[in-house]
Amino acid sequence: MALISSESLERVKQAVDIVEVISAHTDLRRQGARWVGLCPFHEERTPSFSVDAGEKLYHCFGCGVGGDTIKFVEEKEGLGFAEAVELLAERYGVELEREQEDPRAEARRQHRRRLEELLDRTASFYASYLWDSEEAGKAREYLAERGLGEEVLRAFGVGYAPSAWDKILVRGQQAGFSPAELHGVGLVQRNQKGGEYDRFRSRIMFPIRDRRGRTLGFGGRAMRADQGAKYVNTAETDFFHKSDLLYGVDRAKAAIAKAARAVVVEGYTDVLALHQAGVEEAIAVMGTAI
Ligand code: ZN
Repeated sequence: MALISSESLERVKQAVDIVEVISAHTDLRRQGARWVGLCPFHEERTPSFSVDAGEKLYHCFGCGVGGDTIKFVEEKEGLGFAEAVELLAERYGVELEREQEDPRAEARRQHRRRLEELLDRTASFYASYLWDSEEAGKAREYLAERGLGEEVLRAFGVGYAPSAWDKILVRGQQAGFSPAELHGVGLVQRNQKGGEYDRFRSRIMFPIRDRRGRTLGFGGRAMRADQGAKYVNTAETDFFHKSDLLYGVDRAKAAIAKAARAVVVEGYTDVLALHQAGVEEAIAVMGTAI
C-alpha cells in the first residue's frame, strides 16, 4: 500500500483528541495543564501517568512509556504504525491521501472498501437473524447448551444464516451489490447451470475478522443433520486467505500484546468459551480451526 502523505499524517495528528483516546483505557483527571491517571501499561495504585493535551503527548513516570496518540494506539491495540494512523483517521474523520497514488491502486482500494461494506452488512444481518428469527431457535439453544452467553456471542458477532437459497443473494442485490461482487467475497456460489445461490444456509455463522475487526469471511456450522459438511468456511478469495487469519485476533490482540503470549485453540466455540472465562488472549489458527 502506498505511503500515507505527510500532510495527511499532520491532519490526523491535529484532529485527534489524545485525552479521549486514552480515556478509553484509564480514567484521567485534570490536574492543572495536564491530565493524570493510573498507567494503562503497568499495574499501579497511585497515578504516575500523565497526558499533555496541548502537546498531545503521554508519559509514565513509573514505567517510562511515552509518546504521541499514534504511539499509544500502536502499543495499546497491538497495531503497526500505518494501521494505527488509519484507525485514528477513520475515527476522527480525516481522509488519508497517499503519496504518488496510481489511479489503478486507488480504484482497487475503492473496490475493496465496497466489498468490505458488503461483508460487514452481511455479518450484521446474520447476527440479527440469530437473535430475532424463529428458525434460529435451535441454534440459540445449541449455543446456550455450550454455555456461551449472549454477551460473548454478540461481541464476536456470531450469527445465523437462513435456510433459504437466495436470502443473501436477494438482499445483497437490493442493496446495490452485483452477483459478481457477492461471488467475489464468497457469499454466493454457482450451480452447474450457472445460477447463483447462497453458500451458507441453516448454519451458525462465525465472522472471521482481521486485526482491525473487519469481517473478511465466515465459518459456518451446520445446524441440520442432512447438511453435508459440519463446518464450511468462506472459499479462498482475494480477501480471504485462510492461512493468514487468526480467529478472534481482533478481540485478543491487546491481551496478547500485554501478556506477551497467545492461547491457541482449535475451534470457534473454544475461543468464545475462553474469552467468556476471562482468557482474552485466546485465538484459533484458521488453518486448523474446524
Ligand atoms: Zn506505566
